[in-house]
This record gives sequence, structure tokens and C-alpha cells, in this order.
Amino acid sequence: MNNNGDFKGYKGEALAALKNFNAPVWSDVEIKTEKGGYKGIILPRSETADQFHIVLKLRSGYNIGVAAKYIKEIKTTGSKEAHYKIPEKEFPYDPVKPRVKLFGTGGTIASRLDYRTGAVIPAFSPGELYGSVPELADYCNLETEKLYGVFSENMGPEQWIGTALAIGREIEKGVQGIVIGHGTDVMHHTAAMLSFMVQNTPVPIVMVGSQRSSDRPSSDAALNLIHAVKTAAESDIAEVMVCMFGPTSDEYGLLHRGTRVRKMHSSYRSTFRTIGDIPIAQVSREKITPLREDYKKRRLDKNVIVNTSFEEKVSIVYYYPNMKPDIIDSLVDNGYKGIVIAGTGLGHVNKPVYPALKRAHEKGVAVYMTVQTLWGYVQMYVYDTGRDMMELGVVPGENMLPEVAYMKLCWALGQTNDLEKVKEIMLTPIAGEITEREPSNGYLIFQGGIPEVEEFISKYRK
Ligand code: ASP
Repeated sequence: MNNNGDFKGYKGEALAALKNFNAPVWSDVEIKTEKGGYKGIILPRSETADQFHIVLKLRSGYNIGVAAKYIKEIKTTGSKEAHYKIPEKEFPYDPVKPRVKLFGTGGTIASRLDYRTGAVIPAFSPGELYGSVPELADYCNLETEKLYGVFSENMGPEQWIGTALAIGREIEKGVQGIVIGHGTDVMHHTAAMLSFMVQNTPVPIVMVGSQRSSDRPSSDAALNLIHAVKTAAESDIAEVMVCMFGPTSDEYGLLHRGTRVRKMHSSYRSTFRTIGDIPIAQVSREKITPLREDYKKRRLDKNVIVNTSFEEKVSIVYYYPNMKPDIIDSLVDNGYKGIVIAGTGLGHVNKPVYPALKRAHEKGVAVYMTVQTLWGYVQMYVYDTGRDMMELGVVPGENMLPEVAYMKLCWALGQTNDLEKVKEIMLTPIAGEITEREPSNGYLIFQGGIPEVEEFISKYRK
């Protein structure tokens, strides 16, 4: 029987139900409720979670919450405490395979659920990775290094600079490909930053993450990792890329250019989309299929250029109707040196904000305009309001995505305060962040209800 004897994390109604039926955590149980029955293991409850539900790990591997108030009976049939350790197996060495370095920065990809706290714990050494995803050895000799262990919202200049320097060091040591495990939430910020900080890379630099942790049956962690490692080891694309699920099925992954990619869905595995362009390539376990030819090719030299300049006093302002000028004024008064505005339509803000923009410019603040629509260019010549704003010193940021313009402005202002030089850096494309045109097939938003789209989606709906 259960020797754990406690009710970790449970409180209130849920705790009362468990005590009532003498079912501590890790009990293997059959629960009867007014709405049906469930079989599974009672997991510890996260300390911050509500007091109304009991968390059950079903036989299928899914965790569900059972409302305590509907429970009629809990029958304990045994007890099974989870073990967190992932079996370590020595990663096989094969002299003919390329050397790939995997850097970990954290995020769901580096984690498994810790049922005790509801938090996640890392699974990271090559042995652990090989233990859980043996296919990785088909492509390369893998080395791993944990740089950070943060959820990606905690990434900042320290981590960006550290990661860029670590990449530079590995390339100089002769690695043939780099994979960076990263939380998905701000993966596109980091991808943009690395595209500017690490230039002229001779090898693929592939960012990868997972939307669902590896203890869930629907996890995308293993497949994304396989695709990313294959890309790093074998592809001839020497750019900073994001490698994540393509369609919602697991047919293939997509390789997105680091400056044109964005997380577009809070929970779908197919969340990353190339915006205003088409992805660089498709990747499956078997092959990498380029979708375009203009990518930078793999080289044998080690001539990477790392420039980790960074100015922290930069902000991004998402314009909303009725915005007051004090938003801009307060940034200027707080010593901000750069502001990226995500404006409406072709790049607009309301008239009352104009004087604040003028003042910002006069105080030497670099102000750049981008568009909330994400697809398309800022066009400030179309309306006289746009021309007025340019006269106030607002610089149109072409078709740079707002977050990309933000990261680039941090990088540019890290190098110089001279606004003309900043402008030259900002408007000279470095890694595809500004393109001459956006192809029409680079614009695709699934609109349910349209027959062609419904047919396409139905193929992938699970
Ligand atoms: N919050 C997590 C992160 O970005 C989510 C993830 O990894 O997908 O670190």
C-alpha cells in the first residue's frame, strides 16, 4: 500500500476528498464521479494550484483535473511513485559523423514535469537525451552544454550575449552544427538577436523548443529535436534558424529564418510561422527540402563574426487608439535611447502623440515605426500624417517585424549613439529582416469556414 502517506500540495475541498477516501498522492485509484469514472494515479498538486481539483495521471499518460465536489468514491488499488531520472545511455561515438553541439537555455524542451511541485526539471546530458531520443545518434556525435535553465521570458542581454559568445567559441573549435534548446515564448526574439550578434556563420545554428513537455503523449519535444539535430548535422544552410512543427500533424518541421519568424499560437505545436515570406526549408527524419535558394551556404572556414553590442534602454510601444503622449514622454524622461512603435495600418499613431515624438527626437532618442499587421511594409508616404511623422524624426522600419526591429535597435544603439549611424545599421539588411518584397504565397492565414482551408485543416485535425 501507499507508504507516502501525504497529500502534497492539496488543500481545501480536494484535500478533504482525498482524506475522506484515504487516498494519498501516488495512490493508484479508480475514481467514481457523478460524471463518470477514471483510473489513474493521484499526482501531487502544485502548491499554487486551486483547492477544487484532484490531478490524476490517466493510463494514457494525460493528466486531468477531477473536480472534488463530483467525487462519489475513490478506490485505491495500489501505489506508484513516479521516478524522475531519465535512463542515461552512453551516446555512441562514430568517427564519420559530424560533431554537433547542443546548448540548453531552458524552456519546456529541457524539462519534464516534476509532479511534486508542478514545476519542471531538466533532462539534458547527452546520455539522458540519447536515453530518451536514440535517433539523435543517427545523425551526429552530440555534445551538450547547459548555458542557462530559464523559461524564455527570463532571457535578457546577459543570456543573449552569453549564448552568442558560446556559439562563436564552438564554431572556432570546429563544430559542424549548433542546436540551441530554448523556451518557445521568446524564441523569435532570441533568434533575431543571434542573427545580428552572430554573423557570417559557416555552419547551421538551429533554435528548437517544444510546446508540450516530453512527459505528455502529444509532446513535440522529440520530433523537433530530431529535426533540429538533423538540420545542424546535415543541412547546407548556414544561418540562424528556428526549427519547429510545420503542420499540426507530425509530418514535417519547418526551418524559419531567424529574423522572419514569430510565435503565433499560444498552445498549438505548429505555432511558429514565417511572416511576410516563405520558410527556408522543410525537414523530416529522412530529408531536408529547401523551399528557396537564397539562403547562405555552409562553409568549411571558421570565420564567424560575433558582435555582442547591446543597449538596454530600448522599448517597444504597441500603439492603441487614444494613446496619450505621456507614454512616450515617460520613456524619454526615463532615459530611453530607442523606441520601436508598432503602429496601426501602414504605421500610424494618433495626432496627440506627435509632440511627444518630436520631443523624443530632439532629445536624441531613436524612434522607429513598424506595423501591428505584421505582414506588409510601413508606408509613411501614403498619407500626409505619415509624412508629418517622418518630419518629426520617426524612421519607417520597412517590413521588419516589431520584435525584430526592437532587438536590432538594442543591438544598433549598443554600437553607437549617432542617430545617422544607427539608421544606417537599422536599414541595412543583415539577415533577411528587411526584404525587397513579400511574396503573395508568404501570406497565409488559415480562415476556418473557407472550403479549401477546411479541407486542408481536416486532413490534420486529430
Ligand atoms: N514558457 C515556456 C518558455 O518559453 C514555454 C515553452 O518552452 O514552450 O520557456
